[in-house]
Amino acid sequence: MASYSSSVLIIGAGNFGAATALSLVKKGDVKVTLVDTAAYPNPRAASHDINKIVRDDYPDRLYMRMLATAMPLWRQDELYKPWYHEVGMLRADSTSFGEESIASYRDMGIPNNSELLPVDEVRRRWNGALATADFKGVDQILRRLTWASNTSWAR
Ligand SMILES: Cc1cc2nc3c(=O)[nH]c(=O)nc-3n(C[C@H](O)[C@H](O)[C@H](O)COP(=O)(O)OP(=O)(O)OC[C@H]3O[C@@H](n4cnc5c(N)ncnc54)[C@H](O)[C@@H]3O)c2cc1C
Repeated sequence: MASYSSSVLIIGAGNFGAATALSLVKKGDVKVTLVDTAAYPNPRAASHDINKIVRDDYPDRLYMRMLATAMPLWRQDELYKPWYHEVGMLRADSTSFGEESIASYRDMGIPNNSELLPVDEVRRRWNGALATADFKGVDQILRRLTWASNTSWAR
């Protein structure tokens, strides 16, 4: 029978429980027991569906640091790679979100390719898909390419 220097019981095999279990097992020398109320993946879990969106430009610096650590792993790790897809985005709102996002990257020293585009330019580009969009109250739109800048949509 294997012997371990410690044992950990994790209640809940959602995103956080499963990821914690995996990290502990990878470290070795720890017995990990992961329990849930139903077989994994439990449809009750908030993390059950795969259509989650994640970004890394939060005002919370700790959160940004955690994502700066996690994202390269998600890009490269064979386990995560098939489930993690980076896409470009346009974010249109009347707040100062765009400026704050770019400032967050600058303060954290995280390279990024965000830019603020005038509404007219956004209407013209992307084959005019947004030509008639309602941008009421919006002065400029935050555009972010993918990390690898390799999707045709993001160009
Ligand atoms: C509709 C929706 C959309 C979301 N969209 C996003 C998004 O776009 N981007 C993003 O980053 N986040 C998003 N979130 C938040 C994200 O899903 C959660 O923060 C994350 O999944 C939480 O993971 P978790 O492991 O803590 O909880 P869960 O995934 O809920 O896992 C908890 C697990 O614990 C089990 N459990 C509970 N009680 C017990 C018990 N007594 N005994 C045993 N097992 C138990 C449950 O069955 C479940 O499997 C969204 C959430 C929802 C609901």
